[in-house]
Amino acid sequence: MGGQPPHCLLHGHGSGVMPRMLGQIQEKNSGMFHPGGSEHTQVPIPRSNKLFPPPPHNPIILLNRNFSARLATPPCRYFPCMSSHLIRARDYPRCPLCQREGRWLYRNLTDRLCGVPGHWNIRQCTNTDCELLWLDPMPLEEELPRLYEDYYTHAPDTAPPRRLYHLFLRFTPIHRQRQRLDAFYLEDHPPGRLLEVGCGSGQRLTHLQRLGWQVQGQEIDSRIHATPGIPIHIGPLDTAPFVPQSFDAVALNHVIEHVPDPIALLATCRRFLRPGGRLVAITPNSDGDGHRAFGPDWLGLDPPRHLHVFNPRNLRVVAERAGLRDIVIETNGARSVGVALAGYRHKRFRKLRAVLFQLRARAEVCVLQATP
Ligand SMILES: [Zn+2]
Repeated sequence: MGGQPPHCLLHGHGSGVMPRMLGQIQEKNSGMFHPGGSEHTQVPIPRSNKLFPPPPHNPIILLNRNFSARLATPPCRYFPCMSSHLIRARDYPRCPLCQREGRWLYRNLTDRLCGVPGHWNIRQCTNTDCELLWLDPMPLEEELPRLYEDYYTHAPDTAPPRRLYHLFLRFTPIHRQRQRLDAFYLEDHPPGRLLEVGCGSGQRLTHLQRLGWQVQGQEIDSRIHATPGIPIHIGPLDTAPFVPQSFDAVALNHVIEHVPDPIALLATCRRFLRPGGRLVAITPNSDGDGHRAFGPDWLGLDPPRHLHVFNPRNLRVVAERAGLRDIVIETNGARSVGVALAGYRHKRFRKLRAVLFQLRARAEVCVLQATP
């Protein structure tokens, strides 16, 4: 990276700017994700994803914030004239990290969380040292805001506190692992200035504030229900008015799987870190317990919002190409009850089974820790 300013491809850019920006990024950083649909394609080719009834193994179930399911059908299935509501996408056959063609892992998945129309496929890199998962077709960058029109961060969290449940968890072996996740793995780091990138409502930062951190959030989605008392910059990270090298820690909780170019995003985060600062990125682990247990129903796939899904091996490559150092990748399963609630199809004892899943899960998410 040297002294060149890294760029970040976050959604929200106008379509006219895209080809020029993609050109800049390719020129300035050879480690960036390959932006085109093929090696010869610089500009994404718009293509609507196909519309046909979902296969019986994958019914459309919308999940609310508490992961209780209700059956629903996107209106476009019954009104084909609404095809303009489909998400424009492009072919994406090759692994952006090693350029190998991916094999089909899952076909015709639907959006179970927000009901975004369309059917989505997941590819897996055939390089056994990589095995990155990604969406094909890949939504165009200018379409990404439409994937979040009904996202859970737009409404206040009205779920009642489950005091008995949390008291129970205090006496389980996963209590310590839950604490580490809640503190962004910064429990051994002296408090200072903390930036959470893609912070959503900013609710997680209230806990870090109590631990003594001076917190700052950043979020690109202006429709979030912001938490009172948490400063949040609304807008892209690469144009945010933050001073370079001014944060002691930068955290990303379930963010890098949502962006078209995670290497560029981590490189931008690195720019805001002080020497000796800490970057922490938490992301679903495709090698983990949830994917093994629930296959195409695994919440970590979350089509079409999770554009790439990582494992510890390819996450290390992403971090190295972003210029990060002292890379440590751990796994954690202590907050996987929601993943299990969404994964179990039958209601019978679902909550009990989900809690038991969480107690034994060890590797549901990857936790990347690195220095700039
Ligand atoms: Zn690969």
